[in-house]
Amino acid sequence: MTETAARIIDGKAVAAAVRAEVAARTATLGYRPGLAVVLVGDDPASAIYVRNKDRAANAVGIAARTIPLPASVAEAELLAVIARLNADASVDGILVQLPLPPQVRARAVIEAIDPAKDVDGFHPINVGRLHEGVATLVPCTPLGVMKLLAAAGVSLRGARALVLGRSSIVGKPMAALLTAADATVTVAHSRTRDLPAECRRAEVLVAAVGRAELVRGDWIANDATVIDVGINRLADGRLVGDVAYDEAAAVAGAITPVPGGVGPMTIACLLENTLRAAAARRSRPG
Ligand code: NAP
Repeated sequence: MTETAARIIDGKAVAAAVRAEVAARTATLGYRPGLAVVLVGDDPASAIYVRNKDRAANAVGIAARTIPLPASVAEAELLAVIARLNADASVDGILVQLPLPPQVRARAVIEAIDPAKDVDGFHPINVGRLHEGVATLVPCTPLGVMKLLAAAGVSLRGARALVLGRSSIVGKPMAALLTAADATVTVAHSRTRDLPAECRRAEVLVAAVGRAELVRGDWIANDATVIDVGINRLADGRLVGDVAYDEAAAVAGAITPVPGGVGPMTIACLLENTLRAAAARRSRPG
């Protein structure tokens, strides 16, 4: 085992602080913001995740409900559910748990959600606003990463940041948020030449690839901040990130563990997005 030099960024503690802040603000509203989670099929991992979301929401005064639908659901049926939720004044946030079965086009479903209720921040209107630098509902995981960086006191202005991964859920919005925070951002992916060299240039490295321990200790610059979004289950049952933690912690200045880093932030940010959507929608005239 290598000696740990890096400061550990404690996602559980930061997430608890975000949840406490949401609970305090929700208590002053005079109504319970509503969150509807649509769960299609019976994937056990999705079911556990949705149950955790429900529990966390109710604990901060958000009225969460799950709408379970069979794996055989037709796209039209799912779109009708979304239309009902869009029209329901008690619902402030709508989240459709992904992935969806093959007969349903995820894109059609995401585009059917009222952008004002799109607490995942995946609707093209919200994606566009994010890239325009306009305040909007932002995807929960990259938003959580920004909060971790802030809590760790990492200065982003002018910093060289590398985002490893270019998915719509993590990599792309992550790059947009870091750019908006004045970092100089590089996005790397599976076609990047000499990934280790790209990583070594980074003062802030965010790994979101879904490849167990891909990023090695000698890919990391001395004193860099390393944020590991990856969640990978090894054959022996262990949960590891996209970064080889012990090696990385020996050189990095600060690092997030897996589990207990980015993971807890995602649900906390979903709760914050629900509160934000409720406050914005319910204060609109008319
Ligand atoms: P994804 O949609 O599969 O995207 C993976 C990205 O990594 C792609 O852009 C891909 O490049 C790139 N990539 C894959 N293999 C690579 C390699 N060997 N070298 C360089 N780049 C490579 O995954 P995602 O949804 O963004 O999720 C990424 C990870 O984060 C997963 O482990 C997931 O479980 C985790 N995650 C965690 C949370 C959380 O709450 N903590 C939330 C969401 C996701 P191409 O574009 O070229 O294919």
